[in-house]
Amino acid sequence: MNKKVLIIGTGLAGLSTALRLTTDGYEVEMVEKYHRPGGRLNLLEKDGFKFDMAPTFFSMSYEFKELADYCKIKMPFEFVELDPLYSVHFEGDDRSYLIHKNLKKLAEEFKKIEPDLEKKLERFLKSAGEIFHDTENIVIKQNFDSLLGYLLQLTRVPIKHAPKMFYSMWREMEKNFDSFEVKVIFSLVGFFLGATPFDTPAVYSMLNYTELVHDGYHNVKGGMYKIVEGLVKELEQRNVKMHYGVEIERFEKTNGQISAFYDQTGKKWAADLFVVNADAASFRGQILQRKKYAPKKLDQKKWTLAPLTIYLGLDTKVTNMYHHNYFLRRNFKEYAGKIFKNTIKLDKPYYYVNIQSMHNPAYAPEGKESVFILCPVPDLRYKANWDDADEIADAIIADMGERTGFDFAGHTESRSVYSPKDWESAFNLYQGSGLGLAHDLNQVGGFRPSNKDEEYKNLYYAGASTVPGTGLPMTVISSRLVTQRILKDHGTLS
Ligand SMILES: Cc1cc2nc3c(=O)[nH]c(=O)nc-3n(C[C@H](O)[C@H](O)[C@H](O)COP(=O)(O)OP(=O)(O)OC[C@H]3O[C@@H](n4cnc5c(N)ncnc54)[C@H](O)[C@@H]3O)c2cc1C
Repeated sequence: MNKKVLIIGTGLAGLSTALRLTTDGYEVEMVEKYHRPGGRLNLLEKDGFKFDMAPTFFSMSYEFKELADYCKIKMPFEFVELDPLYSVHFEGDDRSYLIHKNLKKLAEEFKKIEPDLEKKLERFLKSAGEIFHDTENIVIKQNFDSLLGYLLQLTRVPIKHAPKMFYSMWREMEKNFDSFEVKVIFSLVGFFLGATPFDTPAVYSMLNYTELVHDGYHNVKGGMYKIVEGLVKELEQRNVKMHYGVEIERFEKTNGQISAFYDQTGKKWAADLFVVNADAASFRGQILQRKKYAPKKLDQKKWTLAPLTIYLGLDTKVTNMYHHNYFLRRNFKEYAGKIFKNTIKLDKPYYYVNIQSMHNPAYAPEGKESVFILCPVPDLRYKANWDDADEIADAIIADMGERTGFDFAGHTESRSVYSPKDWESAFNLYQGSGLGLAHDLNQVGGFRPSNKDEEYKNLYYAGASTVPGTGLPMTVISSRLVTQRILKDHGTLS
């Protein structure tokens, strides 16, 4: 007997869950608020240029292989490994640092400011690697039925890692490295988790191991959106129907179960089971009207920084830059402490630049360039008015021009700026937060909104704000965890 599943959202977690569930014999239908699939992993096409809208690289590529193997398909896209991983420029320096995966080359890059870096890194990465391997299967890739179950599971992690839960990632950098630059560069991963290195526990330095040693970072041949196109093609072959421009606004329950959801036009979407790929915390508050996730409670949670993104189509090729570039300054501690709550001016921000047509020439017309700039900024709780988004973009573009000697402003023929407000309205990102719920120790594992609803037996969640967390590989793992839940509760049908 076929069971019908309605998936709300076509982000990476929604698409991967759909693929897994069809493999297991479920009939799947999907609804999506935006006009095309992918969620944050989306594509902007404008004035002859293409832009990957948000993710530009990812780690743990083997999670995509696991997905393909599970669904018995050939990998629908090709990875391109990044090496060097990225370049970093500090304000006032006349040079940039290239972050090589090869530790000898990396040490050579920093030899003037950080002697013996190779040895220091070997020691640092050994410990970071142990944490990663000691937690990956025990904690990250597990479903938890209760908080107690989670806490018991944590006791299986070797006790030697415990102290790193109680001091910060920055302290870990101070213990291992001497130069300001090296400490800053290896603590940037703290921001990927939604906090600062000063309040992120040192255990998360395992992310330095994933970037430098374990699997590195990858892009996709032909652009990141090939991931979405590949998955959607496969889903279409499996007769999964996808409906765009459909925003779920309310629900209907019968006998302790969800019987249907309703969209903005009042249309009813019925199914046997439901998987919510929209934000697992804010959906519970805004659509299910749960008290535990009422606006005040949601606002008290820790959310990751919001994105201000800029997409530039240039009339010529950029010189003197690498594909992936970070532009940092020297007021790191002050900036990190103030940016979340909007207590520092945004005229001199920190930002990341990806020259997208270097990887993917088809993203720009011949001889031209498509450039993506991401500036992490306060979310809408702390800065609700973004009328100055263009002004901030001007400042970033001018700064980038000064620091690279390349006239970005003068060569721009296409420009789009997306503020946190635009991100919120495009994909329902709560308060415009870019990566969803942060990963403080009280917001991960058994503390994170569960992928199985507390009240309705036929309602599940997949995506960045449920387990295990945010980022592309994590959302693929999330699709595996929710599928395991559904199979445990309802069985394999094929
Ligand atoms: C600017 C930026 C840069 C990033 N860079 C990277 C990176 O380089 N590498 C990396 O690994 N990760 C990166 N991330 C994080 C990554 O994009 C996310 O973790 C991941 O894409 C989340 O996928 P998801 O499926 O959980 O959610 P989403 O992609 O948000 O998908 C959820 C979908 O649900 C839809 N939806 C929401 N509410 C409703 C509703 N009520 N009705 C119908 N549909 C609804 C939304 O429109 C959306 O399409 C970045 C994120 C941002 C914003």
